[in-house]
Amino acid sequence: MTAVETGLPRVDVMRPWLGPEEIAAVAEVIESGWVAQGPRVAAFEAAFASAMDARAAVATSSCTTALHLALVVAGIGPGDDVVVPSFSFVATANAPTYVGARPVFADVDAATGNVTAETVAAALTPATRAVIAVDQGGVPVDLDPIRALCDPLGIVVVEDAACGAGSTYRGRPVGAGAEIAAWSFHPRKILTTGEGGMLTTSRPEWADRARRLREHAMSVSAADRHASLVSPPEEYGEIGFNFRMTDLQAAVGLVQLGRLPEIVARRREIAARYRDRLADVPGLRLVEDPAWGAGNVQSLWAEVRPPYPVDREGLLRSLAAAGISARRGIMAAHLQPAHAGRDHVPLPVTERLTGATLILPLFHQMTDAELDRVVEAVRAPGER
Ligand SMILES: *Cc1c(COP(=O)(O)O)cnc(C)c1O
Repeated sequence: MTAVETGLPRVDVMRPWLGPEEIAAVAEVIESGWVAQGPRVAAFEAAFASAMDARAAVATSSCTTALHLALVVAGIGPGDDVVVPSFSFVATANAPTYVGARPVFADVDAATGNVTAETVAAALTPATRAVIAVDQGGVPVDLDPIRALCDPLGIVVVEDAACGAGSTYRGRPVGAGAEIAAWSFHPRKILTTGEGGMLTTSRPEWADRARRLREHAMSVSAADRHASLVSPPEEYGEIGFNFRMTDLQAAVGLVQLGRLPEIVARRREIAARYRDRLADVPGLRLVEDPAWGAGNVQSLWAEVRPPYPVDREGLLRSLAAAGISARRGIMAAHLQPAHAGRDHVPLPVTERLTGATLILPLFHQMTDAELDRVVEAVRAPGER
């Protein structure tokens, strides 16, 4: 919807928060003459590992490629099953297929939208070798019980922390308790580098292999070859990929990472205001922090059920009529043609949430007037 219909400027669902520091950081990289993966990527990896309490970090071109690499280094391949939530962005379910494994869908908990030890247990098969546990919308997944279930069975738990930067689980950053985790820097997430991702792991040998695999499995990195006049001959020990991040992206990432506490504090403040002002609306529920952690509010999702006067589609329409851009809630991969026909356990909570949830506008620069407009439109859908 446009200003033409409402007479008011449109309220976006999300806006990245980028400024002069990011511009200056990119300019400095361009002036340096080295724009591909190099010293800024290395610096961003070190800073990210430190901020996320991770032993090692390997930058990638996206979270999707980080998930792909995570499954490769964990040794997952053809004949293996990987338990994933259907209730997630489709990349989570796609990742196992890239290594020839089979995604097996687990249901989620209605309060958090995340898999639990119980929903994972219900989806295990004799061939399960990995589980991808997602911090959906930035809500920390309850990882410890999932690891308590999987570790004794030799099942690797990969944390898909695409949305999770700045969220905490039992007092530590999400991802810190995982053997391996994947992160996204897409503009729809908390920190952005345009496109980009990161893999963090507690296993140095997995980090080393991922570092080589992202760069064609070269034994000497391009940056190291450049550094010496006569470089040692490189060797390609296995089939690798080009999943590299550029120094242009990493320079932006370093600035963004420095802003993370401020970004999360602001998002939590806006979410608290939404909760406060919508708490008494019958049939409307906003996602909350679970007992075991604090989310970064990457996505503030709301579920509508009777006695709320309209369904999710009706609410989206009435928000659009008020010039407000909201989004349908998290998708369900098992309902998409790309994953149709897979056997799966019943997924009643996934189906309920994907049909009845929506994501409310929330961004750093959101004004009080914009928040007021959204609150009014949600409190009185269809009335203008
Ligand atoms: C966005 C997202 C991804 C994919 O991230 P990209 O960086 O765009 O590849 C993967 N998993 C989840 C849960 C996501 O939300």
